Amino acid sequence: MTEPTHDNEAHGGALGSRLNWLRAAVLGANDGIVSTAGIVVGVAGATGDRNALLTAGLAGLLAGSMSMAAGEYVSVSTQRDSELAALALEKRELKEQPEAELEELTELLERRGLSREVAREAAVQLTERDALRAHARVELGIDPDELTNPWHAALASFLAFTVGALLPLLAIVLPPADWRLPVTVVSVLAALVLTGWSSARSGAAAVGPAVLRNVAGGALAMGVTYAAGSLLGAVGV
Ligand SMILES: [Zn+2]
Repeated sequence: MTEPTHDNEAHGGALGSRLNWLRAAVLGANDGIVSTAGIVVGVAGATGDRNALLTAGLAGLLAGSMSMAAGEYVSVSTQRDSELAALALEKRELKEQPEAELEELTELLERRGLSREVAREAAVQLTERDALRAHARVELGIDPDELTNPWHAALASFLAFTVGALLPLLAIVLPPADWRLPVTVVSVLAALVLTGWSSARSGAAAVGPAVLRNVAGGALAMGVTYAAGSLLGAVGV
């Protein structure tokens, strides 16, 4: 995927997609942290049984990571299908009406700020070199050689969620009974500071409010499930 001979546009695109992947990984990890923390803290409210905690946490980890992977697979497959359909249509149009397509490319380049003559010349050269690629990039905004692979996307989501989910799972089952909750709550909130910070940075958003919202969301999730677990534990359901 990373050929050293790419032109500037390809480099810009590659950087953009790397940032997108990073952002998706951070969000996936964040999901894994919050939902698994909610589960194990909720169960800890009801019981001190380590096996129950481990079972619930592990089930939550697997269910969440597989659900994320399946969702990602479906959404990227759909996107890929529509990109392939758009490329096929473009290919047919290029074959059936090359003059109209050349004019279309010229106008699109003009709209990007080139003069009529320069746009025409650029369109002619781009069409001679690789007409489909030029139309894919300028008209559709996609690179026909770098369509996202749904399996890669699914695996990345699965791994990101799993890495996030492991933190609360280990934090609740490893320490001695009295330390479980404080260790879990503190490490989860600390991790949420980190994921909130990095997702704000990668999206060029204000860091303070993003971190605060992220930590508050996690604290709320743990508070609610702990209260529900304690209630169930107390009435002996
Ligand atoms: Zn076209």
